[in-house]
Order: sequence, then C-alpha cells, then structure tokens
Amino acid sequence: MSSPPDAPPKKTIAVTGGGLSGTAAALALARSGRFRVTLFEKAGDLGGLCASVPIGQTTADRFYHVILPADRATLAFLGDLGLAGEVEWRPSRAGFFGRGRIVPFASTADFLRFPFLSPWAKLRLGWGILQTSWSASPGGPGEPSALEWLNRRFGRTVTANFWDPLLRSKLGDARERTPASFMAATIKRLFGARDRTSGRERMGSVRGGYAPVLRAAGKALQDAGVEIRLGTPVRSVKPAGAGLEIRMDDGPQTFDRALLTVPLPEALKIVRARADDPAWDRYRRVEYMGIVCVLLALRKSLSPFYLLNLLDPDLPFTGVIESTNVLDPENFGGHHLVYLPKYITADDPVSGLSDAGVESLFLPHLRRMFPGLSDRDIVEIQTHRETISQPLPLFGSGLRAGGFATPMPGVYWGGTAFIEGLTINNDAALRTAAEVVAEILHP
Ligand SMILES: Cc1cc2nc3c(=O)[nH]c(=O)nc-3n(C[C@H](O)[C@H](O)[C@H](O)COP(=O)(O)OP(=O)(O)OC[C@H]3O[C@@H](n4cnc5c(N)ncnc54)[C@H](O)[C@@H]3O)c2cc1C
Repeated sequence: MSSPPDAPPKKTIAVTGGGLSGTAAALALARSGRFRVTLFEKAGDLGGLCASVPIGQTTADRFYHVILPADRATLAFLGDLGLAGEVEWRPSRAGFFGRGRIVPFASTADFLRFPFLSPWAKLRLGWGILQTSWSASPGGPGEPSALEWLNRRFGRTVTANFWDPLLRSKLGDARERTPASFMAATIKRLFGARDRTSGRERMGSVRGGYAPVLRAAGKALQDAGVEIRLGTPVRSVKPAGAGLEIRMDDGPQTFDRALLTVPLPEALKIVRARADDPAWDRYRRVEYMGIVCVLLALRKSLSPFYLLNLLDPDLPFTGVIESTNVLDPENFGGHHLVYLPKYITADDPVSGLSDAGVESLFLPHLRRMFPGLSDRDIVEIQTHRETISQPLPLFGSGLRAGGFATPMPGVYWGGTAFIEGLTINNDAALRTAAEVVAEILHP
C-alpha cells in the first residue's frame, strides 16, 4: 500500500512470532498504513501452535483445533480472509471414560443417566454450571483457588469425582496453584458451545483445518506489503539510538518499534531481562506448561465423540480427541484423526521420552480403552511437542493490567501469556492481538 504524498513517513516495526497472534497483528499494523512491517518466524512456516503437518497424502493440524459458535473474533478473521464459506458446523458430542466404560455426556438424557455421580450430585453439578454461566468471574482481590471455589460451588463430592480428575489431567499438580477465574472462564467457554435452542453442542472448523487459513493469511500479509522472514529466530532486541536493534543469526537490523508475540519466557530472553531488574518481575511470575501430543490417522473411527474426558487417573494422556467427528474425514483421505495430548511440566518424565517412547507408553492404554483397535487400523502415528505452549493462569490482576508496553521503550508484547482467565484459544488470541495493535497505534 503506498502512502499519500503528504502522509508522515511510515515507521518500521518488527513483529516476532508468526503464530496466529503475530500474523493477525502484523496484518492489522500493515493495513493501518502507519507501519512498514517485517514478520520474523523461527519455524519454516507460519502457524505456531496452529501449524499443520503432512499426514498420509494430506495435511492436518499438528494440534487439534475447533471453532465455537461464540468465537466472533475468529469468524470475523476468517471472513476477512475470504474463508467464511469454508467454515463447516457439525453437532459435536463429548463423552467420559471411567471405570473401564465410555459413556456419552452430550444431552440432558445423557446427563440424567451419567453413572459416575449420584442423582443429588448431578443436580449440584447442573445447578453449579448454570450459576457459573450467569454470574461474574470470581477473580479480583482475595480470589480463591480453583479447587476451593469448586468445592464451594459444586460441593466436595462433585469436585472430587468430576472436576478434580479433569483439572488434574489438564494441569497436573499445578491445579493446586490455579485461580478460580480460570475454572469459571473454562466452564463459560464450554457452555458457549451449546446451541441456545437445541441445547446441543455445535463446533466448527475450516474445511481442511488451519492449513488453508494460514495459506490465506500468508497471502493477505504479502498483499498488505508485510515482509515475511521464515526460518529466522530473533535472538535479541535492544535500544539503539532513537530506535531498536533486532538481532538475528545473519546480523542486526534497526526498527522503530518491536512487537513480541512469542511465549513470554522466550520474550524475556529476547529482551535480555536481567534477573536483578525488578521492572520485569511481574512478567517472570508466568509459568508455562509444555505439550506432547500423539496424532494417529486411523482406518476406522474409535467413537462418535469429539472429546473423551478421562476420569481414570492411570491414563497417561489428558483426553482422546477424535477431530474427524467435527472435521470431515474426506479432507484427510477418508482417515480418522485421533489426538492424545498430555500437558507437561519440565520435570514430567514424559518430557524426557523419545517419540517412540511416548507412543509405546500411550498406545497400550488406548487399546485398553478400545480393545477393537488393531495395528492394521493404524495408518500413521506421529508425536508432536512444544516445550512452552500453555501459560498457567495467574491469581490477581493479570499481566495486561499495565497494558502491552514492555519496560523497554518502543517494545510491546502480546500472545498467549496475555490471554486472561482462560485456557488459550484462538478467539482470545485474536482479540488480544487487536488490543495490542490498538495500543501501538494509539499509545
Ligand atoms: C493442544 C492444543 C489444542 C488447542 N485447541 C484449540 C481449539 O480447539 N480452539 C482454539 O481456538 N484454540 C486452540 N488452541 C489454542 C491455539 O493454538 C492458540 O490460541 C494459538 O495458536 C496461539 O497463537 P500465538 O500466536 O499466540 O502463539 P504460538 O502459536 O505459540 O506462536 C508463537 C510463535 O512464535 C514463534 N517463535 C518463538 N520464538 C521465536 C523467536 N525467537 N523468533 C521468532 N519466532 C519465534 C513460534 O515458532 C511460534 O510460531 C489449542 C492449543 C493447543 C496446544
């Protein structure tokens, strides 16, 4: 886009991180007409956690992604990329695995038949979910922990037999350090997947997953004049005269502004935040969990459920996600895609396992759940991992209370650490990116 002759000269900005946050922010900054944008991504492709991988003759998200009906920012972003017509909606069902059985958990009838809670406990569960959906977040001064809040809202039996196994499978021991607002926001988001009239869950996806979204986003970035530097990790950012020096492996480059959308521990390394400098202290509080996720392409479907929640504490993975119960298997060569994720802390023994080690730990448990699954049914198996993927939610006022400017003048940050009160999701990532851009344009 060329500037009108009397417009002030454009400033330059380096956006680091080509995940969804960095891609959306780079696009909005370039389209503002105020910045010449360079987008740096260390991987060979855009996408970050949304990136896709070849599987069989097709490509699929390396981690599973769906869209909820309430994801307005995601739907607007897809519309802007010309992909509104590519979004497919399907009813989606969740189930539970416990005491060796799989049971549905998708309708009122399923709820009434649910065998793992007494009728009284079910009443408390249903009532607690309704109360949570209409009440304000339990955040703020004196915020209780998720477990304390769950005990109060749902009672000890429902918490011990229903919520705690789910929290443990998602956060491990870190659940004891998790604030109530995280749990309340997660319940509200899941409740938002329900169709208001039928009460059934609906989930959406772009035909083929995030691969076509990233292709369209890459084209939009080029059309907006963004210079995309793939395979280029940013090593450091430091003040240089009136601007900033961004250092890559092939040397430094000067910019007026920088935006870091990489996970916060990586951003702190890039700005070389000194341990004895208190200006960075509040950002150092954020802990991240990693993820290991086995992806299977199968000849047959395992179950009708998109998500199987696990109440059995012996299972080494967090859930069983059969994404092709929402995405059309025809887009994946007719194969059924099943993901077995496990969120891990650095000291989790799974983080030290090779891919083959993870697969030989996970597969016997999957076979125990689905005795009919044979080797012949498995077309392909892959293991994907990220050492820093999901920030643990914080107590008290979150990071964005002070805005998105870092203590280093001219440097801003955003991305997953700035998503508040929720498990990370693309809708919140896109809303956060829009807020960061607004602050850069109107400091
Ligand atoms: C298992 C799993 C399932 C999910 N399911 C859903 C779902 O169903 N629906 C949903 O809405 N959301 C889902 N999400 C969340 C979604 O993936 C995230 O919200 C989103 O991808 C966050 O994007 P981001 O750009 O903020 O971060 P990231 O994707 O982490 O992007 C950060 C980018 O920075 C790059 N980078 C890091 N360091 C450097 C450096 N030094 N220099 C240059 N580049 C660097 C990385 O390579 C990466 O591309 C899921 C996430 C996971 C892990």
